[in-house]
Amino acid sequence: MMSEPLVAPNGGLYVHIPFCVHKCAYCDFYSVSDLNLKTAFLKALSAEIAAAEPGPPAFDTIYFGGGTPSILDPAEVERIIDQLNARFRLAGPVEVTLEANPGTVDPEKLKGFRSAGVNRINIGVQSFREENLRLLGRIHSAGQARDAVAAARRAGFEDVGLDLIYGLPGQTPEAWAADIESGLAHGPEHIAAYMLSVEPGTPLAGEECLGRFRPAPEEDTAALFLATSERLAGAGYRHYEISNFARGAAGGGDARISRHNSKYWAYAPYLGFGPAAHSFRPPRRLWNHRDVRRYIADLQAGRRPPGGEETLTVGQQMLEVLMLGLRTSAGVGLADFQARFGRDFRDLYGAAADELAARGLLTLDGGRCAPTRQGMLFLNTVVAALAGR
Ligand code: SF4
Repeated sequence: MMSEPLVAPNGGLYVHIPFCVHKCAYCDFYSVSDLNLKTAFLKALSAEIAAAEPGPPAFDTIYFGGGTPSILDPAEVERIIDQLNARFRLAGPVEVTLEANPGTVDPEKLKGFRSAGVNRINIGVQSFREENLRLLGRIHSAGQARDAVAAARRAGFEDVGLDLIYGLPGQTPEAWAADIESGLAHGPEHIAAYMLSVEPGTPLAGEECLGRFRPAPEEDTAALFLATSERLAGAGYRHYEISNFARGAAGGGDARISRHNSKYWAYAPYLGFGPAAHSFRPPRRLWNHRDVRRYIADLQAGRRPPGGEETLTVGQQMLEVLMLGLRTSAGVGLADFQARFGRDFRDLYGAAADELAARGLLTLDGGRCAPTRQGMLFLNTVVAALAGR
């Protein structure tokens, strides 16, 4: 495992596009399928950005998430990027990521996104097997996913990420390994491999209640996690966060990590726009409500759309720094911890950390406390032991 800090202290800007063609069976991200709301939403989004406090800090990432941001036209994405550029102090080079669903893009559109200023595209492949895509309720075929990745390259994207899901019922280690190999064959700069989880309120949770869906046993998914980490490390990918792998393992410094998502794990500030988006200016976190119609009405009436806010105590912040930092191979920097809280990490957690290190779950080297591969797998146990719970 590499132990280097992931990001500079600049902030990140997040834009939530709350539309999907159809809701996937496993998904609990906020989105609706009424695309008639798109124009009004974009107007409201523009009003929310215009009303935001410009800073500090400076920002060096923009991330279009959702929902399905690739539902937007390139010209709409360009207008949002231009407005963010005008409103905030952006410190170059800015990473601009857009999540794309293979069922909503074609070569022309991908070229348009690239020309609009998007320089990193994250394609929601999920699986290269048709039966898995059907089970997950995806709108695209495996062939469309392959075409989208190839078209992204032709459109000029040098930073292409693929999302894959494992831990599906009945999925054999061989079938998952074949999905990984299909992904690797495209030579992506980034692979996110997520373990399927059943979130309350999703159609999949309903299927589970009815006995029509049984999640894969934990020992099977643990074995898949370890096999994924080993295979991708062998293919030159740095396993830099529980579910995330970036090409460029050697030395770690040039790995093509998601700079934006790394801000969350490194406890950097971020601002979010759109329904359900969160913002964080330590120690204050605030979030918008999850209702696009209300979001539009609020901004039309000149109101912000707050869903809630909290000011974190120092104790809460310390716990979050542990929970988020230990998701990553960089772990928590002991000097950073001292600078942030004026407390010595070893005084607070040293005894528990030594014990976890003896069990092979953590390392304490080079001024950082970082999880091993096993430690990532048992993150909840690690954090609970450090926090004395
Ligand atoms: S496309 Fe993505 S955001 Fe939309 S429902 Fe499916 S998983 Fe969720």
